[in-house]
Amino acid sequence: MCVSQTGKRALVTGITGQDGSYLAEQLLQKGYEVYGLVRRLSTPSTHNIDGIADRIQLLDGDLHDQASLDRAVKVAEPDEVYNLAAQSFVGVSFSQPVVTGEVTGLGVVRLLEAVRSHGDGARYYQAASSEMFGKVVESPQTEKTKFYPRSPYGVAKVYAYWACINYRESYGMFISNGILYNHESPRRGIEFLTRKVSDGVARIKLGLLDKLRLGTLDTQRDWGYAPEYTDLMWRVLQHTKPDDFIGATGASHSVREFVEMAFRAVGISEWETHVVLDPKFARPAEVDRLCGDPTKAKEVLGWTPTTSFEQLVETMVKADLARYAGLRHRNADAGSL
Ligand code: GDP
Repeated sequence: MCVSQTGKRALVTGITGQDGSYLAEQLLQKGYEVYGLVRRLSTPSTHNIDGIADRIQLLDGDLHDQASLDRAVKVAEPDEVYNLAAQSFVGVSFSQPVVTGEVTGLGVVRLLEAVRSHGDGARYYQAASSEMFGKVVESPQTEKTKFYPRSPYGVAKVYAYWACINYRESYGMFISNGILYNHESPRRGIEFLTRKVSDGVARIKLGLLDKLRLGTLDTQRDWGYAPEYTDLMWRVLQHTKPDDFIGATGASHSVREFVEMAFRAVGISEWETHVVLDPKFARPAEVDRLCGDPTKAKEVLGWTPTTSFEQLVETMVKADLARYAGLRHRNADAGSL
């Protein structure tokens, strides 16, 4: 059993993902007792939390399964619940729209019900998303900007966002939405653009890959550094009242800029010869440009992201380079045995 200095307990869904693992580390540092909800997979994917496995409590559960959520809330007795679990990849939401709606949308209502019935006043953080703004009606977007989702994922997130506000207003629960823009790190899933590029560029640099196949170079995102965004999640729940906040850098960059900078980080200037446009990775409907206005989070919560776009790209590429170099080293060692 962990000994908590703050006496606070947190339940984190999606704890094996990028955000869940950073948040769990930060909560442990603050002295929280951390519980994580983990979905059963035949091939478990726990590498992001391997470093903290002996300091957190994992509970079996699934956003499909009401009983498992009820039980998790009863066992964890959380002061704070962070819902970071979802079918979170926009591309897959087009091929699996029903699962996306079930987990990313309805799953939130199941978890809200569990917290309402068994949470004893626990505070609840919902991972809302800039994808809710989709085909944006203004730029930059604020907490007051109207939504116009462009994917089954975005639609499900809008449903979840409103479900949270409805539970807040109906039952007086402390429920807050963090409307976070894309946030990345070496722990980002390989299917997302930034990690696909950092991984691909590292392999090209090492002669393990020739071409990077992408859907488009033209879209623009407001990309930030994930650990700063998980810090924002925590701040959102420490606020005096439940409310909704945008988390963004306030600057957007194109996929082309990301790719060019990633190649530059490994000393390749003629990057275009390594990049192929492949319609397989294009989406039926795109979100062309996202740019968030983080003023409210800055003024109310004192949150300011400091990692620059250049630092983010470089950090990700260098991490993948080091990973492949380490793999090569290990393989060479194994070969020499
Ligand atoms: P999203 O903003 O949540 O959809 O995050 P992603 O990292 O999946 O995509 C960011 C942008 O990169 C989107 O506009 C994608 O269409 C674009 N993109 C271009 N090529 C690719 C690709 O090969 N994979 C992914 N994941 N995105 C791509």
